[in-house]
Amino acid sequence: MTYFLIFIALLIAFFIALVTAFITVIYLVCKMELAEQEEEDQWLFKAHCFECEIEMPVKEKNGSLYCSNCGLRH
Ligand SMILES: [Zn+2]
Repeated sequence: MTYFLIFIALLIAFFIALVTAFITVIYLVCKMELAEQEEEDQWLFKAHCFECEIEMPVKEKNGSLYCSNCGLRH
């Protein structure tokens, strides 16, 4: 009977560890996807400017994209 209780306790501990690991993996995957989205957003608002000849942040105005440094339309 005692061995059965120990077995049940170990089984419960195993499942708790499994659930914790599962939640941790989901949390990490969500975090990674969020970080990737942030990088894509940054990329969207940065473009090579032919006037400044370097990558500059881009501003949006009336549906058009402009260089935030010199105002060249992209
Ligand atoms: Zn520029």
